[in-house]
Amino acid sequence: MNATVGDGSEPETATAAARAVDDGYPAVKVKVGARSLSADLDRLSAVRARCPNVELRADANGAWDRETAADALSGFADHDVAFVEQPLPSAELAGHAALREAHVGVALDEGLLEHGIDAVIDADAADVVVCKPMVLGGVDLARDVAVRAREAGLGAVVTTTVDGALARAGAVHLAASLPSLPACGLATGERLATDLRDAVAPVADGAAAVPQGKGNVPPR
Ligand SMILES: [Mg+2]
Repeated sequence: MNATVGDGSEPETATAAARAVDDGYPAVKVKVGARSLSADLDRLSAVRARCPNVELRADANGAWDRETAADALSGFADHDVAFVEQPLPSAELAGHAALREAHVGVALDEGLLEHGIDAVIDADAADVVVCKPMVLGGVDLARDVAVRAREAGLGAVVTTTVDGALARAGAVHLAASLPSLPACGLATGERLATDLRDAVAPVADGAAAVPQGKGNVPPR
């Protein structure tokens, strides 16, 4: 699984990323786009200095225009960022396709929901798609999207929408059903103040074991 690091100052971001690496996460996704690009570059530089070996990703949630996004991907390459989610607003398919000439990959999250996987593939708009079962119509439909993407040569990751314990367990099952998946955004339970029940697939060392009993929910 990847850890997600929200917006924060340069030291806050680096400290949160270092804590995630200490907790066993092989990948860290940093939220960007809420500050100036130069501030975000400083944040990613600080993360890379503290965490030289982690797989680093970023998520702009559609914050940039085309020029800023091109500058961002160019700058992020210096910090070995694997991919940036949604550098441009979700309506932009051609804009994302143009960004794919950079060394840093382009991932579509909101854009996948808006356009659908076939349009994303046809437009060459992404290197990676972010498959969220709770917005793509459930575990089975999200799996269809991931399989279709991978057959077309794209990468896929599974993430939650900061779901409760039951939907997180479904997302873990989905991720586990897809061989050789990169780190996924499933470690979101701690973002909830309260939950429906104890975690069905608790996260430890940046991973979770898939429940082996019948159904998602073993008896308490
Ligand atoms: Mg995202």
